[in-house]
Amino acid sequence: MKIVCIGAGPAGLYFAISAKLRDAGHDISVIERDPPGATYGWGVGYGDELLDTLFRNDRESARRIRSASVLWEEQVIALHGADRAYLGGYGYSLNRASLLEILAKRARSLGVNIEYRRAVEDISEFPDADLVVVADGANSRIRQNYAKEFGTEVSQGSNPYIWLGTDRVFDKFTYDFEETRAGWIWFHAYPSSNEISTFVVDCQEDTWRGLGLDQLGDEETVHLLERIFARSLDGGSLISRSRGRPASWQRFTQVYNQTWLHDNVVLIGDAAHTTHFTIGSGTMLAMLDAIVLAQKLFERGDDSAVALKEFDVEGHAAIGHMQAAARTSMAWFENVDRYLDRNVHEFCYTMSTRHSVQHPWQFQYHLMNQNLVVRKALRLLATGSRWYRARRRGEPRR
Ligand SMILES: Cc1cc2nc3c(=O)[nH]c(=O)nc-3n(C[C@H](O)[C@H](O)[C@H](O)COP(=O)(O)OP(=O)(O)OC[C@H]3O[C@@H](n4cnc5c(N)ncnc54)[C@H](O)[C@@H]3O)c2cc1C
Repeated sequence: MKIVCIGAGPAGLYFAISAKLRDAGHDISVIERDPPGATYGWGVGYGDELLDTLFRNDRESARRIRSASVLWEEQVIALHGADRAYLGGYGYSLNRASLLEILAKRARSLGVNIEYRRAVEDISEFPDADLVVVADGANSRIRQNYAKEFGTEVSQGSNPYIWLGTDRVFDKFTYDFEETRAGWIWFHAYPSSNEISTFVVDCQEDTWRGLGLDQLGDEETVHLLERIFARSLDGGSLISRSRGRPASWQRFTQVYNQTWLHDNVVLIGDAAHTTHFTIGSGTMLAMLDAIVLAQKLFERGDDSAVALKEFDVEGHAAIGHMQAAARTSMAWFENVDRYLDRNVHEFCYTMSTRHSVQHPWQFQYHLMNQNLVVRKALRLLATGSRWYRARRRGEPRR
């Protein structure tokens, strides 16, 4: 099969790998508008579920992803950088640039052709392709060309956010909410390597304008945010420029498509659906799309039309609850000032249960978990569970 993937993000590259692994006879090209190594953003967070799946799908790239990743343990929620409450859990993260390098290298080793510095304008550029996989992200050019056929609905979140890095290494997944003269502003941060952490700042529109952030240049923005979050940064600096341009303020793009199919063209990853970054699942879903599509094509052999239809129907059914949770989460943060008059334990609890039913006993359990001894015991349990899962999926000992 001659397959063209548009976009060398996690979705496009991981689809190319997954399809080649299942059928080495496929002729697959991935076309990317940017040069190699140029990308936006900092770290990508993920959990054990994704790692289990990646190890099952392609041990080679999974091992590299794991060894390039760092671990964070526990979440801390701070008000004014000082009052703190804790949530359990752990996760992994790695630099987005490292993830893409690993995937591109693996794809090439399997015989995938990757063409950089070519921005695709339309699918008519590939008249002889049997299948065009559109993986060009949330603002997909190709999806926009066929918005009617896909039944595309796009909307934007109201909070401005900016995706920065910092040389202050956070070992916990950290939220800090600061009150300024113009209103509340907050960040979430987590390590993306041993030297750098991801640092995403978010606030309501009025606060953003009130602080003058809509008018400031890159350097002034960074300096102002460093002053606001000085306590949490503890002497560390914010970094605006990753490998490409300096970061800029964005609004989250919510994407929904009634169908991901149009003739021999299929949408995957953010081009098909987005989930707000506060649930940290977009890359995971992009990679799962890639695996499921490759598997469907493999199972259906010559009947790719059936494979694509199954991918579309089953994919929509599977992702519905994630998109609902992401919408709830985004709305919660857009109205967060409603909850910021509470003490830090109540606030943290409200945040942790923002997309689930709350039972009365859960709050007592949450309070109990603030105790240092209980937290240490929970961390020990989490370490045991992590160790067991790592052995089960065959991860080498580290
Ligand atoms: C602030 C923030 C934090 C996030 N944190 C996390 C996280 O912790 N964990 C997580 O799982 N997800 C996270 N995400 C989501 C994640 O970034 C995306 O879901 C993921 O990158 C989607 O992968 P993709 O391959 O579909 O699209 P992308 O990664 O956007 O890749 C699309 C690629 O297509 C290329 N392209 C675009 N147009 C064209 C064209 N016309 N021709 C050729 N190439 C083109 C682009 O250059 C890009 O390389 C976060 C998102 C944001 C905004």
